[in-house]
Amino acid sequence: MNRSAAATALLSLMAWASCARAAWVDRVTDGIMGTRISVELWADDADKAKAERAIDALLAEMRHIDDSMSTYKPTSEVSQVNARAADGPMRISKELFDLLVTAKEYSELTEGAFDITYASVGYLYDFRKHIHPDDAQIGKALPAVNYRHVLLDPQRQTVQFSQKGVRIDLGGIAKGYSVDRGIEVLKSFGFSRMYVSAGGDSRIVGDRFGKPWMVGIRDPTKGEGEVITRIPLVDAAISTSGDYERYFEENGVRYHHIIDPRTGHSASKVRSATVIAASATRTDGLSKTAFVLGPERAMEIYNRIDDIDAVIVKLDGSVIYSKGLEPAHPGARK
Ligand code: ADP
Ligand code: MG
Repeated sequence: MNRSAAATALLSLMAWASCARAAWVDRVTDGIMGTRISVELWADDADKAKAERAIDALLAEMRHIDDSMSTYKPTSEVSQVNARAADGPMRISKELFDLLVTAKEYSELTEGAFDITYASVGYLYDFRKHIHPDDAQIGKALPAVNYRHVLLDPQRQTVQFSQKGVRIDLGGIAKGYSVDRGIEVLKSFGFSRMYVSAGGDSRIVGDRFGKPWMVGIRDPTKGEGEVITRIPLVDAAISTSGDYERYFEENGVRYHHIIDPRTGHSASKVRSATVIAASATRTDGLSKTAFVLGPERAMEIYNRIDDIDAVIVKLDGSVIYSKGLEPAHPGARK
């Protein structure tokens, strides 16, 4: 046996030995933030109980975020902001304040396509009950949609709405944020290889022993499980927004849950958009842009931002990739 063959044999023996004493611990939980939470975590057998405790702590953190940020919960901090912030500056938690600052930054990055005040009109929709506002209702509510109406004072840690009628909803960023927080919780227990997802927002830490995680991007023109491509990822977050997520149809019009802040109507300029970046807060916040601005304009923005990549499925089913993904997909930009 030559030296490299011996080394290979030793490595595979070590891999076998480590497999025997460690394993992926996983859990799937439904019902937090109205979505499915999946966790996979690599743990030594001796750390199995710790891994379960770490996942419990992650879920507790996600429940806390849901309790504080859901607009479905009248007691949440965000619901209280919606009830009172038009009356004057209101002191809020550091966590919410920081996320509102981040949301504003994404509004600026996306030329206003991402806008948490979409909710000033968005609250008139109920996708489960197939309810949508008429043009008169939209016209009345629309002036309140503008991220500039949310006034943030970092010294006092307060939020104020500049006019009545403004509402915010963090549904476009909170799942990604909860994934990032969940990852921090698992890391604080000492784990270093993991996958966490909340609905369409996922993040990966580490690899699968020399191999990347392969994350599939669903083909929005086909059923669940059909993918247009698989992207190899290590230490990255990925979010997909799709028009197939929460929607209903009426008289040939598709009403779905991403709202164009400029019109108050469903933003339907693409079938799906996937964004890859370092954090899930960022990928979640930026994945809605293409629906509002359309594939070309959104791709210009995505290509301008150094740390992100994107895959967009256009209305005709064709797929476009950001510059960073192009070499892996020759011919994709036909
Ligand atoms: P999911 O909720 O499955 O993660 P998305 O990441 O695509 O799906 O986010 C859609 C959610 O974003 C909507 O349900 C709504 O809460 C919120 N939203 C809709 N339109 C906008 C918008 N223009 N800007 C910011 N958030 C939005
Ligand atoms: Mg999301």
